[in-house]
Amino acid sequence: MQSGFITVETGRGSYVCRLRGRLKQARQTGDITGLGDQVEISPQLDGSAMIEKVLPRSRALVRMAPMPKGEFRQVLMANPDQILLIFACANPPPHLRMLDRFLVICEKQGVPALVVANKVDLVGQTAAQAVFEHYRPLGYPVIYTSAKDGAGIAELGAALAGKLSAFSGPSGVGKSSLLNALQPGLGLAVKDVSGLTSKGQHTTVSRQLYPLEGGGYVADMPGIRALKLWDTEPEELDGYFPELRSLVEYCQYNDCTHRFEKGCAVRQAVRDGQVHLERYRSYLHLRYTDVEEVEIGP
Ligand code: GDP
Ligand code: ZN
Repeated sequence: MQSGFITVETGRGSYVCRLRGRLKQARQTGDITGLGDQVEISPQLDGSAMIEKVLPRSRALVRMAPMPKGEFRQVLMANPDQILLIFACANPPPHLRMLDRFLVICEKQGVPALVVANKVDLVGQTAAQAVFEHYRPLGYPVIYTSAKDGAGIAELGAALAGKLSAFSGPSGVGKSSLLNALQPGLGLAVKDVSGLTSKGQHTTVSRQLYPLEGGGYVADMPGIRALKLWDTEPEELDGYFPELRSLVEYCQYNDCTHRFEKGCAVRQAVRDGQVHLERYRSYLHLRYTDVEEVEIGP
C-alpha cells in the first residue's frame, strides 16, 4: 500500500502531500495514486497538504504485479495522452519486433502511440523512411529526429506541447539526448521529486515528470519493457494489430490461425502487400511464441 510523500503540482506551486487515511482504508487492488493523477488537496498550516480525493483516470499505463492476495495494479502513469516509442535508425539497429510488441501493449492499454526514429543523421532520411514509414498508415505518427543535428526536434516539440507523454524505448537510442535537445538545461531545471513510494511486495517507484516550456510534461518510462501482456488470449491478439483487426472476419475459418490455412485473409493481404511482412512476422512471433508459450517479458 502507499505511504510516504507525493509531490503535487498546482497553479500556485508544488506541495508535498500525504494521502488522507480514509483513502487507504479500502482493500487495495492497485495504486491509490500514480504519476499523472489529478487530485484534490487541502493545504495544511505547516505548508504541506493532504490528498483528499483522486479523480477518475481517463486511462493508465499499469503493470500487474503478482501479490499474495492477487494481482496488484501498479500505476506507471495515470492519464497519459500518448507514448512516444523511441528507436534509433542505427547504433543500436532498430529492433522492430520490440517496437511491435510495445505497440501491442499501447493498443491493449488504450494509449495512443507515436514512433520516433532518432539518429536519422546516421542513415539519411530515405533509408530511415524505408524502415519506419509503414507505421504511419496504421495510425502511428512517425517523427524522424536527430538529437545531434537538430533535425525533427521542432516537430517532436510540437507533438509534446500541452500533453502528458511517456518516453520509452531501448537504452542507447537517444532518449536523454532528445530531451536535452528539446529543452536545453532541462536536466538542471528538473527537481528530484519522487512521484510516490510504494512499500511492501512491489518495488519502490521513484519517477519524475519533466515539465516542458511549451506546456506539457514528459516522463521517461523505460519500465514499459517489463509490461506483460497479461490476460491476453492468443486469439485476441489480432485486435491489437490495426491492420489485421478488420481482416480476420474474412478468413475462411473462424478459428483460423493465419499460419497456413487456405482462404486466410491475413496471408492473402501479406501476399498482396496490404500487410507488411515484418508486421505479420511480429504478429506470429507474439502469438505463437510469446503469448502461448512464455509471458511477454523484457
Ligand atoms: P538513452 O539511453 O536512450 O537515453 O540514449 P542517450 O541519450 O544516452 O544516447 C546514447 C548515445 O547516442 C550517446 O552517445 C549520444 O551521443 C548518441 N546519440 C543520441 N542521439 C543521437 C543522434 O540523433 N545522432 C547520433 N549520431 N548520435 C546520437
Ligand atoms: Zn486467417
